[in-house]
Amino acid sequence: MEDFDFENRIVSPTEIMGDTDSDNPLRPRSLDDYIGQEKAKQNLAVYIEAAKQRNESLDHVLLYGPPGLGKTTLSGIIANELGVNLRITSGPAIEKPGDLAAILTNLNEGDVLFIDEIHRISRAVEEILYPAMEDFAIDIVTGKGQMAAAYHLPLPHFTLVGATTRAGQLTAPLRDRFGVTLRLELYTPEELARIVTRSASILGIKIEPDGALEIASRSRGTPRIANRMLKRVRDFAQVMSDGVITLPTAQIALERLEIDELGLDANDRRMLSAIVKFYRGGPVGLETLAAAIGEEAVTIEDVIEPYLMQIGFLNRTPRGRCITKAACLHLGYHLPSASDGQIKFE
Ligand code: ADP
Repeated sequence: MEDFDFENRIVSPTEIMGDTDSDNPLRPRSLDDYIGQEKAKQNLAVYIEAAKQRNESLDHVLLYGPPGLGKTTLSGIIANELGVNLRITSGPAIEKPGDLAAILTNLNEGDVLFIDEIHRISRAVEEILYPAMEDFAIDIVTGKGQMAAAYHLPLPHFTLVGATTRAGQLTAPLRDRFGVTLRLELYTPEELARIVTRSASILGIKIEPDGALEIASRSRGTPRIANRMLKRVRDFAQVMSDGVITLPTAQIALERLEIDELGLDANDRRMLSAIVKFYRGGPVGLETLAAAIGEEAVTIEDVIEPYLMQIGFLNRTPRGRCITKAACLHLGYHLPSASDGQIKFE
């Protein structure tokens, strides 16, 4: 079996070593600075304004979409625009109901609580979240047997911002408690070019417009990847062209990093090739494919596939994954026969 390394690759939409953490200067702080996602942004602006006018906390917000698209960033912006504090945690980090109770009781009126990967909270924790979201109160039981006592604890009115890569995995009662649901989409190359240009100016990097567009079009629709590529390309530009990122320096740098003009790296190409070579183009079941390339099925589904589907290289069918004609042509395969964009290997 070939060696796959989906961890720490430059085109990973999830955080890898070397990415800056939550204090990152590249994170936009206001809705005006937040590029793209126009639909989500416009709606959010109205809800924030209305909540401010009524002097109420904002309704709970559910953000969903692939990693690296700006969900954490958006939660910070919501808190900023409302002029309240932001508290960040994640589903897996809240182990016991008591952990959540401690977080909730420490919030101030109007605060934003961001729970990343909210689909991963346990049932027991979820039970606490229901009354907290709905009635701004929690019921706590202390002690056991005859010593047991129940307390009804009122909470400040807070706004929960939940983020998930998969809205389908949320239980219906949890999903129903969010007043606002916003889906984040992959960004267009033009939007990403604006993000790259903005980041370059914050980092003091000189970049030409076609250099920015080149980085953008290889960033798989994902700002986190675009920012990371910008930093790597800067190193090449420094050595090759006086620090200015031009179209040729961006192209050479990205070629050296083995990222092709569509943003696919060696791992993507090998995964797609595996579907052609071992499964005659598909359909191949997700679990089978995962085993073949030594990767977890959820990683393939959440991290690798969204972009490949967006560019029309992969189809999800009820019988499994199928590679498309466009992908075969991109990989340089000769097509035995083709129809409706999906290859049929005889
Ligand atoms: P998520 O929480 O969805 O995984 P993040 O909010 O952490 O994604 O965003 C990743 C990085 O991408 C941020 O550090 C930020 O610099 C950048 N980013 C995300 N969305 C935007 C945007 N709309 N405009 C500019 N930069 C963005």
